[in-house]
Amino acid sequence: MRVHRYTEETEQLGHAILKYAADRLALDPVPLDFSRSVEELDAVAGGAISPDGIGGQAALKLFEDELALACLSIDHPRYLSFIPCAPTREAAMFDLVVGASSIYAGSWLEGAGAVYAENQALRWIADLVGLPDGAGGGFVQGGTIGNLSALVTARVTARANASRNPSSSRPFRVAATAGSHSSIASACEVMDAELVPVPVDDQLRLTGDALRQVLLREGPETFFAVVATAGTTNLGIIDDLESVAAVCQEFGIWFHVDGAYGGAGLAAPSVRGRYRGVEQCDSFIVDPHKWLFAPFDCCALLYREPALARAAHTQHASYLDVLNETPDWNPTDYSVGLTRRARGLPFWFSLVANGTGAYTAAIEHTLDVARFATDQIRHRPEFELVREPDLTVVAFRRLGWDATDYQRWSDGLLQRQEGFVVPSSHDGETIARFAIVNPRTTTDDIVAILDSMV
Ligand SMILES: *Cc1c(COP(=O)(O)O)cnc(C)c1O
Repeated sequence: MRVHRYTEETEQLGHAILKYAADRLALDPVPLDFSRSVEELDAVAGGAISPDGIGGQAALKLFEDELALACLSIDHPRYLSFIPCAPTREAAMFDLVVGASSIYAGSWLEGAGAVYAENQALRWIADLVGLPDGAGGGFVQGGTIGNLSALVTARVTARANASRNPSSSRPFRVAATAGSHSSIASACEVMDAELVPVPVDDQLRLTGDALRQVLLREGPETFFAVVATAGTTNLGIIDDLESVAAVCQEFGIWFHVDGAYGGAGLAAPSVRGRYRGVEQCDSFIVDPHKWLFAPFDCCALLYREPALARAAHTQHASYLDVLNETPDWNPTDYSVGLTRRARGLPFWFSLVANGTGAYTAAIEHTLDVARFATDQIRHRPEFELVREPDLTVVAFRRLGWDATDYQRWSDGLLQRQEGFVVPSSHDGETIARFAIVNPRTTTDDIVAILDSMV
């Protein structure tokens, strides 16, 4: 079979690919690049797949010269849209090793070494959250699957509890604020659950008082989970976790904390106090591919009582009995999905190589840059903050601008390759928004982007 032979040509391709990857990781600055249309890409890559193949070197060249240039560099220091991803060099490099190693990380039997390492990285996060020794979970694709998996576990648990009480109904509702991530609504859609919005306080946070009112109005026994957000995506808001935890405790409802973006701030002493109450959660997620410098795609999902997740997620089939009939830790048992890549390994490798102190320093650095941006906005008369930032999302208005002005400015920035900052909106109003999670973003970058908003 030609395709699995290792030849001189394969050897040379290996060197070329490693060189390409190493050169990409050494780039400073990285090019921002542009999106391209299907027509443009058809013109250069339309016939790429053929019966005989074009050879590895030509395929690499096609990627390098055409396709790579049609992908924005998410790790560019002036990429401040959505939530960027700026992996450490160590994490990005080690992703190559994971790809080359054919590890199945769904079961301990097959991937013990990888699963052990992933669990070590999860433990570091569990300690930041303040979860007990027995806590655990796994790394999943992203916050969307993490939230869905946690909510499925919450519902299975709530229904098992409800079934012991013949008079109680089957809980079918989730409470969260309008600021919670779109993936919560999506999870409810997938689960055919009802998402009940809880009004926010004057600082746009979920609080225990508002939650209690909604639960009492709707019937607390109809809810199987409350979702609080530790760093909302659009405005970076940390809900009042402590009062929310107390109300969940009072009514015996699952307390899930979505820290997909903001959870990383737990490693930063300067903001740690804002998460008080997080340690009481039943489940928690953070995306290392956001503010913990891991490459896509990587979400850490943790449960206070992992046995509840096993009861909800373990897949049963005769060919899997050999895995399920052991007390081993099988990561696949804690989330939606079966086959899994050892996607936590690049994060683990970088933590081991750099030390947790380097993570704290890098996160604190991005917080300092966000504080600098906040001060600039506060002191320049043409700008106004939407809200005092809790973390590193800085949302603000350019006074006198409408939606068209924001869009024209944003398009111009990308056109001139000076930055990628797309507008967002809040309460129907178009706003500007910086998401600062890249330690290579400097105060000079912030000044240059603000200066461009004339
Ligand atoms: C990004 C984000 C998610 C979704 O995570 P993905 O990794 O994109 O699936 C969920 N919640 C919050 C708060 C987020 O910022």
